[in-house]
Amino acid sequence: MPPALCVSCKTERALIKRPKNHEKLCKTCFIRVFEDEVHHTITSSGLFQPGENVAIGASGGKDSTVLASVLKTLNERHHYGVNLLLLSIDEGIKGYRDDSLETVKRNAVQYEMPLKIVGYDELYGWTMDQVVETIGKKGNCTYCGVFRRQALDRGSKMLGIKHVVTGHNADDMAETILMNLLRGDLPRLSRSTSIMTGSDASDVKRSKPLKYAYEKEIVLYAHHKKLDYFSTECIYSPEAFRGSARSLIKNLERVRPSAILDIVRSGEDMARLVPGAVPDACGCKGKAAAATATDETDGIGGCGSAAGRSNGGEMAAMERQLRENSAATEKGLETEVSLPAVASSTSTNSGPAAIKPKTELKRAGQVIPIVPRQKLGSCEKCGYMSSQKLCQACMLLEGLNKNRAEVVL
Ligand SMILES: [Zn+2]
Ligand SMILES: [Zn+2]
Repeated sequence: MPPALCVSCKTERALIKRPKNHEKLCKTCFIRVFEDEVHHTITSSGLFQPGENVAIGASGGKDSTVLASVLKTLNERHHYGVNLLLLSIDEGIKGYRDDSLETVKRNAVQYEMPLKIVGYDELYGWTMDQVVETIGKKGNCTYCGVFRRQALDRGSKMLGIKHVVTGHNADDMAETILMNLLRGDLPRLSRSTSIMTGSDASDVKRSKPLKYAYEKEIVLYAHHKKLDYFSTECIYSPEAFRGSARSLIKNLERVRPSAILDIVRSGEDMARLVPGAVPDACGCKGKAAAATATDETDGIGGCGSAAGRSNGGEMAAMERQLRENSAATEKGLETEVSLPAVASSTSTNSGPAAIKPKTELKRAGQVIPIVPRQKLGSCEKCGYMSSQKLCQACMLLEGLNKNRAEVVL
């Protein structure tokens, strides 16, 4: 059988079968189409303002590295006029961050972007290693995730930056939507679908330019652009519920590649049904609404970076196979990425479940239980947006510090 030609340029040999829709593309066209799609996400939702300072939450992992690379390319190609810089969080996990921070430092040079590293110890008085020493490994990802979310915010404030972009991809979005659906948490589902979140209590807005990009395509992009990133799993275990949602999505994707995007779109459609919600679609239908959010637990579960999830093994396997295929690809053979089956998670510990008061809404004779929209306030201690007196981080810290005091006594 003669090798297939790229469906886009129709001249080059197709070497990549897009995970998203199984289109056969050449390397150049794949890279271009990936970038064009991110550009569309950005422009259709009016994400950036000229002159804006934008911090890229950089972990050294594939998602944020691809985000940095693509944003640099698009900023130059389409003249967004934004000032990009890398913002890295050092959780203080020995042997984990050391190498990934080195990666971020190299990225800063490669992409000619300023880099700011903020440590958990500076921000909270605790490194993650110290947290684990105190509370053990179980549940520590809750701390890591909560601390990380605020760390990006606080780091940005320190630098006087009002916009942070993160590398959340379509798989992450689908995972979060599914989790909120399974929890029956429609308000949070609504917020989690939004490309941009912010709140009155915090003047730092967050956005996800890769929210429609498949994780597998991010791996492919990183591979074919030969990006320098750190591929390893977080050594601390991910939250079981998120891990299960992720496995489910990966299984669905195997049977139906569009499943991931379908879930994201469905999430956006459902979000529109939530009273008072201002969700966005891909943005084509209007300006992106900045959903107000106490999204302390949205999107980022566990260790906050996609590198720290249960599927790290699967993506690592894909990376390995890509490297092995490289030689064959260079010889002009068509290669397709097939992924090994992944054993489902057997872990059963669950993170602390948020229990919310429920009210009922009477509509057309039906009684529909709904979760009230949380009133936004700010934390008494640190001023971070919170619906409670203390924000999650300050509550966790209170427990930790009590623990430390007892040890000292
Ligand atoms: Zn082509
Ligand atoms: Zn606080």
